[in-house]
Amino acid sequence: MDTPIVSIFWFRRDLRLTDNAGLYHALKVGIPVIPLFIYDSDILEQLSDREDRRVQFIHQAIESLAESLQLLGSYLLVKHGKPLEIFSQLIQEKKIAAVYTNHDYEPYAQQRDAAVEHYLNKHAIPFHTYKDQVIFEKSEITKPDGKPYTVFTPYKKRWLNTVNSFYVKSYPTEKYTSQFVTMPPEPLPTLKDLGFRETDLRTPGKSVTEKIIAHYDKTRDYPALAGTSRLSVHLRFGTISIRQTVQLAQKLNVTWLNELIWRDFYHMILYHFPHVESGAFKPAYDYIPWQNNENHFAHWCAGNTGYPLVDAGMRELNVTGFMHNRVRMVVASFLCKHLLIDWRWGEAYFAAKLLDYDLAANNGGWQWAAGSGCDAAPYFRVFSPLAQLQKFDKQYLYVKKWVPEWESSNYSKPLVDHEFARKRAINTYKAALTEY
Ligand code: FAD
Repeated sequence: MDTPIVSIFWFRRDLRLTDNAGLYHALKVGIPVIPLFIYDSDILEQLSDREDRRVQFIHQAIESLAESLQLLGSYLLVKHGKPLEIFSQLIQEKKIAAVYTNHDYEPYAQQRDAAVEHYLNKHAIPFHTYKDQVIFEKSEITKPDGKPYTVFTPYKKRWLNTVNSFYVKSYPTEKYTSQFVTMPPEPLPTLKDLGFRETDLRTPGKSVTEKIIAHYDKTRDYPALAGTSRLSVHLRFGTISIRQTVQLAQKLNVTWLNELIWRDFYHMILYHFPHVESGAFKPAYDYIPWQNNENHFAHWCAGNTGYPLVDAGMRELNVTGFMHNRVRMVVASFLCKHLLIDWRWGEAYFAAKLLDYDLAANNGGWQWAAGSGCDAAPYFRVFSPLAQLQKFDKQYLYVKKWVPEWESSNYSKPLVDHEFARKRAINTYKAALTEY
């Protein structure tokens, strides 16, 4: 019997069947589509902790995708290995008309996709990719001279002037689900097969109550409140769609929309300035003589700095894999400025611990706090962790939850004096930036 012709849709940061741009385009063509997911061994091998909440989150999302496909009479083809090798295996087994996927803007992903595209094209198989993860990508929002924005406010203005229903409308993937290949399900790899163990992951809900978003502008800065959406992990892995999220923001709260625009902004920055992955956006900041005291770093990681808001944040991160945005800013600023530790150390720690870890947003957040990024906090503005506590956790509810001993004599003494550290940071930054 002749091998039937099929197309492949490759899932990556878009682990959903609904409103998925690339999947919609693949299904619409009319050639049966095999949905594929690859556990990329190059990425998994780099994860030092074998109990990784992200891997478990992906694993759950893949099981759920596979179940949904099974209900449609289809299956999810799941592989574990190097993408190029998997594709080389697939083209020997199947007659592939085309491979479809969605854009991924991280430098590693760009290289991987270029290599896969080159390989497939050599075998006369087109590789079609689509924008799905953001509303505006690459050079869709630029300055009038065509150059990328590096300051958020004018970028946001342009974003808001450009967006219309075309950019946020959903792709009706559900209309074409009969195009999935019909196949009985295949066993999926277990976490153990992938070399990982179960974690204490508690998956945040995929939907957010409209009430939270409606009051977001008033509640977003208070870590003790359920005042933010907690959708970050779902936006990270595409278990929800950014277009549907933006539609909700447009309806309910412009301040929340603003945060979603920051998300597009940082993805755009990473795409145009990939050097930020390893160095400062503003090169002068690569010359700051960091003290990098390993003992101080260990205290920061463990949440034992003697500053209650910093410690609460770090303990929340260590226990849950999440940290409130206001507190992320405070702990990041504390590491770079109070302790004069290289922001890349903090960035790497967050990258290992955050369930919603995203290179673009994490790098943007860290460079903002260190002062080295585009549109960053000026170097001479040093958050006072005590003033931040008074302002945003006045009744100490958040601090009491994570640092119950904070008022007792058992609580650590401050690792550095605030006023001393503030002056030291300003002088150190000033000297390095003047010399540059
Ligand atoms: P909400 O406040 O409800 O916001 C809605 C969505 O908007 C978020 O889910 C997220 O997708 C996006 N968003 C919000 N704020 C930002 C922002 N400043 N930059 C980019 N996108 C934003 N966010 C990540 O998704 N992954 C990270 O790895 C990450 N690392 C960070 C590191 C530092 C040092 C800082 C200061 C911020 C970081 N952020 C990161 C941004 C922000 O803290 C989180 O997106 C937010 O706390 C997630 O909670 P939420 O889903 O309730 O967000």
